[in-house]
Amino acid sequence: MKGKLLIFSAPSGAGKSTIVQHLMKQNLGLEFSISATSRKPREGEADGMEYHFISPEEFRKKISEHAFIEWEEVYPEQYYGTLYSEVDRIWKRGDHAIFDIDVVGGMNLKKRYGERACAIFIQPPSQEVLEQRLRSRGTDDEASLRKRLGKAMHEIEHASRFDHIVINDSLGKALAEAEKIVKDFLAL
Ligand code: ADP
Ligand code: 5GP
Repeated sequence: MKGKLLIFSAPSGAGKSTIVQHLMKQNLGLEFSISATSRKPREGEADGMEYHFISPEEFRKKISEHAFIEWEEVYPEQYYGTLYSEVDRIWKRGDHAIFDIDVVGGMNLKKRYGERACAIFIQPPSQEVLEQRLRSRGTDDEASLRKRLGKAMHEIEHASRFDHIVINDSLGKALAEAEKIVKDFLAL
């Protein structure tokens, strides 16, 4: 079996982590691609679980060593990137790689892997709801929240470039829809 890529992208707070976590519990042979980042771990996050947490210097060193399939400085001095070693590891185990990645990163992966990748955009019902969700998640201070909302405005404009758009209004419906898209794609 050849490994595939399931790419979930959305503005921060739209619900992609929630959806990805749900899909990983469904015995679909999916394994999370752990990105590297130079942002600081949030409470409850551990190195090698949500991310490989490294310093900006280490991140820049890995860029120069061509360790990344794609990388971005998502916010100033906050780098995020997908490691070749991560996708290789997942495919060697015979699994499919699932990604929680920002919109530009998602489009770059899709461009690179074409038919081997299914790119899904998670759309918040509105800008207001997105803000509410980010606030109720409680993980970002006001400055970080503003940065994320500012970026979201541009990201939503790219939704039509994805293979599928899932509107995350009712969570139950969004989970069912995402599950169907993934199952259909893996059955190809
Ligand atoms: P992302 O990974 O896209 O940044 P999260 O999955 O962390 O977003 O979701 C942001 C917040 O919104 C979380 O607190 C999550 O529990 C909540 N959330 C996600 N989907 C819904 C939904 N459909 N209705 C209400 N709250 C939601
Ligand atoms: P957070 O700080 O909320 O964990 O993530 C911020 C943004 O970076 C999110 O949109 C997240 O999906 C994105 N992100 C996470 N990993 C990667 C990656 O490897 N590459 C890119 N381009 N973005 C990523």
